[in-house]
Amino acid sequence: MTAFSTNSIHGGDHLKTTNDVITPIHVTTTYSYSSNPDELIPGGLTDPNTLVYSRENHPNAAQIEAIVESITGYPTVVYNSGLSAFNALITHVNPKTLAIGDGYHGCQGIADIWKRNFGLHQIHINDEEVAPDGKSSKWDSVKQGDLVHLETPLNPYGTYFDIRKYAKLAHDRGALLSVDATFAPPPLLDPFKFGADIVMHSATKFFGGHSDLLAGLLLVKDQEVKKSLLLDRLVLGSNIANLESALLVRSLRTFELRVARQSKSAETIVKFLDLHKKDFPVLDVLHHGSLQQQNDEKEKEWITEQMPNGHTPVFSIELTSEDQAKLLPSKLKLFRHATSLGGAESLIEWRAMSDDHISKKLLRLSIGLEDPRDLLEDLVRGLLAVGGEKEADVLIEEIKSLKI
Ligand SMILES: *Cc1c(COP(=O)(O)O)cnc(C)c1O
Repeated sequence: MTAFSTNSIHGGDHLKTTNDVITPIHVTTTYSYSSNPDELIPGGLTDPNTLVYSRENHPNAAQIEAIVESITGYPTVVYNSGLSAFNALITHVNPKTLAIGDGYHGCQGIADIWKRNFGLHQIHINDEEVAPDGKSSKWDSVKQGDLVHLETPLNPYGTYFDIRKYAKLAHDRGALLSVDATFAPPPLLDPFKFGADIVMHSATKFFGGHSDLLAGLLLVKDQEVKKSLLLDRLVLGSNIANLESALLVRSLRTFELRVARQSKSAETIVKFLDLHKKDFPVLDVLHHGSLQQQNDEKEKEWITEQMPNGHTPVFSIELTSEDQAKLLPSKLKLFRHATSLGGAESLIEWRAMSDDHISKKLLRLSIGLEDPRDLLEDLVRGLLAVGGEKEADVLIEEIKSLKI
């Protein structure tokens, strides 16, 4: 068995049909049928191994699935966006009740379409298991065949939820647990280890890593489920496109390096900001999984186990006013003010721009591949420009001496 970084480069080699070192970009949408009349079999379109029409299957998408399968060990289906993957998930499970938490607003949006169209019953994933009256609980409506959908780390905070706990809540009722692990791609988190049945990623983020493609992934536990997802994908029209998948194969070649670096840099930055919080009077709250375990031994135990290879590269800050939160991005030189995350470049977003349920004092930061000391300097200067007495140069001095 070869290791992660090797698989991310060579995991699809066995599918190559040319001697190009990089799989060529196949732009064709349609493939010639056999010229032998005896080989013309009715219904060929539903056989995932034959190349017929690119809405079903094409060589670049097959590369992605093979590479992700070799990295993670789980049957994988790729989609044209993260939300397509979530829609495929809910279509496959077809729950009567969905337990879903806060987190990415788009997944909630799909759940609400299901509620509107099919009367999907929803409960909140953090509803009490035992109701205050000791009798009924919203969890009573979760039954065999239903779905519990957990997002960890949670958007936009970058905080963690104990997957084992939600796996038990689901499995005790015969329901399935799906985990949106977009904020902690491999090798940071393997949700299956803690009881997940299906894992979802927006591959637009860390898998893509260059802010230049949209993609989604579902990882499942057996080939039968994968087969059924592929049949659904064919008719839902949600396969990834040819050009996008070539970009994603490119991205996977540096996947481990990027995620490891982004994770380490984020931890360095959060640690520094936390340590110097008193120097930034506008910085009210700092949210990140690395701070979640600070004062609680029990929390620390499951977090260390669940996130063995580093923390999520995404975190959030709350400033003391909405005006300050809107002002800070304009004071930064390296962080771009934009939505999304996981790319090589660091981003900051006044999150209310894309999620109107979130605090208007909140900014989400995605740490990229720049030198973390430069990023810290940018943040420190920006925070002090928004408000504070401290001389920036004293802090910059300390930042320059940080070992990374
Ligand atoms: C971005 C994101 C999605 C949606 O993915 P798209 O590729 O934009 O469709 C879903 N969940 C989380 C946690 C995300 O960050």
